[in-house]
Amino acid sequence: MPTATRTAAEAGYDGHAPFPRPAAPARAGIVPVTLTAAIVIAPFLALGAGIWLAWGSGITLTDLLLAAVFYVVTGLGVTVGFHRLLTHRSFTARPWLRVTLAVAGSMSFQGNLIDWVAVHRRHHAFTDQPGDPHSPYRYGTGLGGQLRGLAHAHLGWLFSSEPTSATRYAPDLLRNDPAMLRISRAFPALCAASLLLPFAAGWAISGGLYGGLTAFIWAGLVRIALLQHVTWSVNSLCHMIGERPHTTRRHDRSTDLWPLALLSFGESWHNGHHSQPGCARHGRGSRQIDPSAALIDLFERLGWATHVHWQPADVLGHPRMVAGKHTLRTSTRPSTPGRR
Ligand SMILES: [Zn+2]
Ligand SMILES: [Zn+2]
Repeated sequence: MPTATRTAAEAGYDGHAPFPRPAAPARAGIVPVTLTAAIVIAPFLALGAGIWLAWGSGITLTDLLLAAVFYVVTGLGVTVGFHRLLTHRSFTARPWLRVTLAVAGSMSFQGNLIDWVAVHRRHHAFTDQPGDPHSPYRYGTGLGGQLRGLAHAHLGWLFSSEPTSATRYAPDLLRNDPAMLRISRAFPALCAASLLLPFAAGWAISGGLYGGLTAFIWAGLVRIALLQHVTWSVNSLCHMIGERPHTTRRHDRSTDLWPLALLSFGESWHNGHHSQPGCARHGRGSRQIDPSAALIDLFERLGWATHVHWQPADVLGHPRMVAGKHTLRTSTRPSTPGRR
């Protein structure tokens, strides 16, 4: 992870002042801004349409089940695939599993996977200091600055004119991983599939076009909006509200926020994650539920994941919270396929 400019950034930052603006800010093009606006706003508008339809019984059990399935699959694609596998390399996956997770994550409407990885690595390199693409402390720690920063960290940063260089932050995927490059380039097609699949499933199950349309709205657009806002809440709320029980780098204000643990598949144990970014499990102890880690554990048991980085007990920040089998493992342990 790049560290070259970290010292310089830290040297001039006191932890409270607004981040300095770039000397010559680049202008975001109209096309990317329009596309981003469409991706952000359309699913949200669908929520209104969905509620309006539901008023006239325009929602069925099929819609809800399809929405749940697509939410879980695409959500785990982001948390297990984009985040823990591709960004932090917390484990090694069989090639077919790596592709499957990357495709599932790409269907979440959160940008192509290489840009996602690059932005997130930059966030870890400059957490809550100048250079962080989505810190809620960008406008300082005063009340007005905090509110403005919260909006920026949640959504505003998507419209920022400070692009993150994939060449610098994700060279491993860009140059040496043709499968990931192809999936990254297929992002628009995968977005279309993410909407068409629920529509087709709803139509097939209900036997009518209306069933396809309600599934399109609930399991397509509304599901996308919910997952987007949960993911963005990890960027915004999980750097402002919650507990900070673990030791992190200077200026890092990441938090653990339990109400989001299930919906975010364990990603809201964000302080735990920032304290040990390479660990496959973000929760600490058996009480901090982490469905993404449970899935990686299952993959390891099936022999589909190897070299999983579980946190060893002796490096945990809070020994009193040590519990559960994960803490008993060594940090990197190759598993034997089919051993269990
Ligand atoms: Zn963070
Ligand atoms: Zn991370």
